[in-house]
Amino acid sequence: MRKISLDRLDALFAAISKAYTLYIPTDTKAGAKFEKWHGEERLSDALNTVRSPKDFFFPQTENLMDFKVEGKNIEVIDTRSECGDFAVFGVRACDVKSFDILDRVFLSDPVDSYYKNRREHGVIISLACTKPAETCFCHTFGIDAASPEGDVVCHKTEDALYMEARSEKGEKLMSAVSDITEDADSAAVDAQKKLIEDRLAKLPLAELSADAFGDGKTSEFFNAPEWSELSEACLGCGTCTFVCPTCQCYDIKDFNTGHGVKRFRCWDSCMYSDFTKMSAGQPRLTQLERFRQRFMHKLVYYPTNNDGLFSCVGCGRCVAKCPIHMNIVKVMKKLGGSKNG
Ligand code: SF4
Ligand code: SF4
Repeated sequence: MRKISLDRLDALFAAISKAYTLYIPTDTKAGAKFEKWHGEERLSDALNTVRSPKDFFFPQTENLMDFKVEGKNIEVIDTRSECGDFAVFGVRACDVKSFDILDRVFLSDPVDSYYKNRREHGVIISLACTKPAETCFCHTFGIDAASPEGDVVCHKTEDALYMEARSEKGEKLMSAVSDITEDADSAAVDAQKKLIEDRLAKLPLAELSADAFGDGKTSEFFNAPEWSELSEACLGCGTCTFVCPTCQCYDIKDFNTGHGVKRFRCWDSCMYSDFTKMSAGQPRLTQLERFRQRFMHKLVYYPTNNDGLFSCVGCGRCVAKCPIHMNIVKVMKKLGGSKNG
């Protein structure tokens, strides 16, 4: 394990920036946001960013390819380029876990080469959560906010940043900062972990359990009468899907620029009325069906198809952002029975 004094964070970021494009969470009027480090940006103290680091690997919009049309000839232009090495600092335990969920979607056959390219070049520098929020429930899904995963795992104490490489990519990054970091034992990190665990145990959602859900529960929950009340006020705004680190649905469209055609993809939301609309019609006609789809996918369908892994990481973003205060926690409490209150 290595450490660096907090008053030398700029030196650390400068050293990383020599080899990687570095992004760190910074404070903006709209909340914390990952921004490219140029030298002036200050590290945010916020627990988490409004938008998740998913954007670095699966951006909200991206050009997939161009078409040049001349008479009856169509030329396909591959617009992909190898991306440079980049590092994302300050990724929380929940968001690090979201990449396991996204990887199973985008790196399964057929592999999404756009996502793969970015995953191969991106280094995740995680940061343990010293002050988890009342909306946090990552522990419900077996995630430890005190011990995140990542290529490099960091703990920030009162006076120092402790860093430990956990992958080949992480080792490479740490070798780039070896001159400005020093060897450290784990005493301060162990003490901090204990403190975080005590705080986690006192959170309002500390007892929330996902045990009622998971593999093979489709018939138990699909026709539950509770969906009607739960979905009644849903606006179909899609906010919950757009802030979610694990939502991965997208649409693909062609845009005629007048000089050719650009094919792009953009995030979509299962909460939208035209989501998965086909020539034969719309498979989910009501907001109840769309609402149910989102939560059944996270709590039942995804784990059924992915060895029991849930596709929620308990980041709490949807809990904080839904304009009608509806969220996955309320769904789990309502459908999950007495154990969840
Ligand atoms: S469903 Fe909500 S709590 Fe779960 S990962 Fe998505 S935004 Fe976070
Ligand atoms: S659950 Fe909330 S955030 Fe999600 S679509 Fe409905 S109103 Fe919008």
